[in-house]
Amino acid sequence: MESAPHDDALVQRAMRVAIVGGGPAGLRAAEVASAAGARVSLWDRKPSVGRKFLVAGRGGLNITKNEPAELFSQRYHSAGHSERLWNSLVAEFGPEEMRAWALGLGVETFVASTRRVYPKEMRAAPLLRRWVERLRSSGVEFHMRHQLCELSVGEELTLKFKGADGHHVCASADAVILAMGGASWPQTGSDGAWVPVVRKLGVEVAELQPANCGWEWGLDAEFSQQWQGTPIKSVHVHADGELAKGELLVTRYGLEGGAIYQLGARLRAMGAPSITVDFKPHSTAEQLIAKMGPIKRNFLSEAEARWKLPKVATAMLWQAIGGADAASAQELAAMVKGFRIELKRPRQISEAISSAGGVRFAELNEELMLSRMPGVFAAGEMLDWDAPTGGYLLQGCFATGTRAANGALRWFAQRRGASPRYSTSSPMSRSFEG
Ligand SMILES: Cc1cc2nc3c(=O)[nH]c(=O)nc-3n(C[C@H](O)[C@H](O)[C@H](O)COP(=O)(O)OP(=O)(O)OC[C@H]3O[C@@H](n4cnc5c(N)ncnc54)[C@H](O)[C@@H]3O)c2cc1C
Repeated sequence: MESAPHDDALVQRAMRVAIVGGGPAGLRAAEVASAAGARVSLWDRKPSVGRKFLVAGRGGLNITKNEPAELFSQRYHSAGHSERLWNSLVAEFGPEEMRAWALGLGVETFVASTRRVYPKEMRAAPLLRRWVERLRSSGVEFHMRHQLCELSVGEELTLKFKGADGHHVCASADAVILAMGGASWPQTGSDGAWVPVVRKLGVEVAELQPANCGWEWGLDAEFSQQWQGTPIKSVHVHADGELAKGELLVTRYGLEGGAIYQLGARLRAMGAPSITVDFKPHSTAEQLIAKMGPIKRNFLSEAEARWKLPKVATAMLWQAIGGADAASAQELAAMVKGFRIELKRPRQISEAISSAGGVRFAELNEELMLSRMPGVFAAGEMLDWDAPTGGYLLQGCFATGTRAANGALRWFAQRRGASPRYSTSSPMSRSFEG
């Protein structure tokens, strides 16, 4: 690796890193950069950081999944999907590092039967409070109520922010890490308003779309009134050849739940999205028919008892048959094993748990630096990746935040011809050490 010419001023002073966005990705980048001795300023448009992280903690903060790293990296979808990149990101900061990080803040975690990892207290607030305190005491400067509206590269990197009073504030830095999130739950600060700012730099940004979200289905009003909030557990759901196992939840407008979240990328790619649900995945159609015995009618009501079919599934089948009974056990078994649902559209992005789309990976090198803007890095949900729920989202934000900060440290060290200091080792950091 060629090193850049020495600049005495650069060699003498500490590196200045400006981080835009105080979600998990930005906070993690701040932590890594400040631990390496950089002067870190963190800018966020909201009055406080980590608002979506706090929302994530409401239903139990699922910080990662206790899964082998190679399986882990297969959960991430991105255009031109690079399993190698995700492998190296998860190798640099994976589930074990995540749990050790929480423990370092005095927060113990546990692995649930689903292999999802949670803090013992389940909540995000204690973690966030201690995290921000630790960052402050390590010298990270927080600039709240500052919205990035311009970024330019000259002698140094210049950032222009709009403050709460409408005045503009400029800051300069040796490296910038952008971590402005996706566009779900805009009330938390991540509303995707950064897209035109980044596109103006000539950077390609894939349209932000709802991910891990509900899907609308033309439900009968009476049906949705009666069944909304009812889970349908342990089903197999297929979409265009892809299988997801898990739960569906009936809502007032259609369906939510882990199984449909997992199929989000596939459904978005389908012109006319539809799913096929197997309500009894552990029985074959023949086994179901045999359990029906010699009966000649009342197949639907018998199925509830004999097949242990959930009531909500019976109601769906009853509707599909037009309020009548099935003609035969064979017909009903075929429907139970492959109940087709034509979906209309995903719910709006503001309601989604996360968003797909963002800065294209083709715009970044493996250090997550924008190829056309040396010194500018990006991390977290604002990158063009998508993953199902299960702890993969926060893990992805922490892994990319770690990589972007380490990348910035290495880039700066290389510019001034010194050895970088890393927070964790990685295959890429080894290549720099060499
Ligand atoms: C209801 C819900 C439940 C969730 N549960 C989980 C879970 O259990 N497990 C899990 O892994 N994930 C969960 N997630 C997802 C997870 O919270 C997000 O993936 C994660 O917060 C994204 O982190 P980030 O740092 O990339 O962005 P964000 O957390 O969105 O932070 C981005 C920050 O950038 C700031 N910002 C945006 N634009 C600008 C600008 N122009 N200038 C300055 N600042 C700006 C915002 O104010 C915000 O503070 C959940 C999400 C939701 C909504």
